[in-house]
Amino acid sequence: MSKAVVSTLYDSDVFRMACRQFDQAADAINLPEEIRDRTKYPRRCIAVSLPVRRDNGSVTVFEGYRVQHNISTGPSKGGIRFHEGVTLGEVAALAMWMSWKCSLVGLPYGGAKGGVIVNPRELSPTELEHLSRRYMQELIGFVGPQLDIAAPDVGTNEQIMAWMMDTYSNHVGYISPGVVTGKPISVGGSQGRREATGAGVAYLVGKYLEDLRIPVSQATVAIQGFGNVGSETALALSAMGARIIAISDYTGGIHNPAGIDVKKALAYIQYAGVLKDFDGGGAVTNEELLLLECTVLVPAALERVITKDNAPRLRCRVIAEGANGPTTNEADRIIEARGDIELIPDILCNSGGVIVSYFEWLQNLQSFYWSRDEVLAKLNGILDRAKESVEYQKRKFKFGRRLAALTLGIGRVAETKQKRGLFP
Ligand code: GLU
Repeated sequence: MSKAVVSTLYDSDVFRMACRQFDQAADAINLPEEIRDRTKYPRRCIAVSLPVRRDNGSVTVFEGYRVQHNISTGPSKGGIRFHEGVTLGEVAALAMWMSWKCSLVGLPYGGAKGGVIVNPRELSPTELEHLSRRYMQELIGFVGPQLDIAAPDVGTNEQIMAWMMDTYSNHVGYISPGVVTGKPISVGGSQGRREATGAGVAYLVGKYLEDLRIPVSQATVAIQGFGNVGSETALALSAMGARIIAISDYTGGIHNPAGIDVKKALAYIQYAGVLKDFDGGGAVTNEELLLLECTVLVPAALERVITKDNAPRLRCRVIAEGANGPTTNEADRIIEARGDIELIPDILCNSGGVIVSYFEWLQNLQSFYWSRDEVLAKLNGILDRAKESVEYQKRKFKFGRRLAALTLGIGRVAETKQKRGLFP
């Protein structure tokens, strides 16, 4: 069997990290050589130039990507990131993780991710609308409810999803809400989608604490990242009785051993835009936050923040990966060797978001809408089953939890590809 001839197109630390995870999982389940490379590498990528008229009359051209990693198990699914650090390699890694995530939790989707190199905070609302619409316009032909379905990710939100859905719908000539999920409720969004990722993280944290026989009311929580995922996780865990002792955003963090009033922090951000100078506790850096003594550490910002340098010094009992790819391969090895930290891997931990995206898409296709209670009950049911399957795989093969989750996700995609055969 000849190896893939691989270009350097995606080459980057984060893509290599996702590939390394794949290789370890493929080795662990003896994935036949014949199926490996075509399960591992992205199916296709689209790179687009996005000219945007600025408020001052000038034009700026932004660069954007959509990587469709796997379309063998269903339409590809995944968010769109607006961030100045976006690279094609990062989007490819994130698309790969979407494939394993959807497969692990049993959604009839492949995996994709999109990204635009932009700091959305530097755009006015009008400029942001132009950029969002232009991105969707450039991808028409490659996306659709049966082809590739977008959603929010870092730097994008419900309003951006509404503009993208509207652009696509104007193109096809009728309303097509199922092309994008994470929309506002008024344009076909689902009850519970906004809080789904954080609610899912909190639900799983609760279940793992139960396994550890730690009452949630005695748990302390440090959360890096206070965007949609971090803030909803904080709200849900504090509603469950946990004490949130630290939160942060890109401007830095707040530490208060007595507990942070999460609602107050959110109200402050509404008005100040950032967490900086919020008076709910003392200042900590993002790096210091990771090293705080706590029961649960939730990295809910960007990739590769838990590294070989800080992994030996972590002082938590549980890591709940709200972000995608927050832990490097080297850090994984260190955490596993330490043996004193339970790691809930990203593709399980933050899967609540895409699970409720799936519900939103189903409701859009059927034009039949569910109550919030129905959504959350169905979400919890899927998370319970996914957790159970990961724990079973972990015990059966004596794998670490990440390897257990990856082997399940990857194994199912590979099996579908093998059964379908190679076209032509
Ligand atoms: N961007 C989110 C993720 O990484 C949500 C994806 C979706 O809902 O399609 O899982």
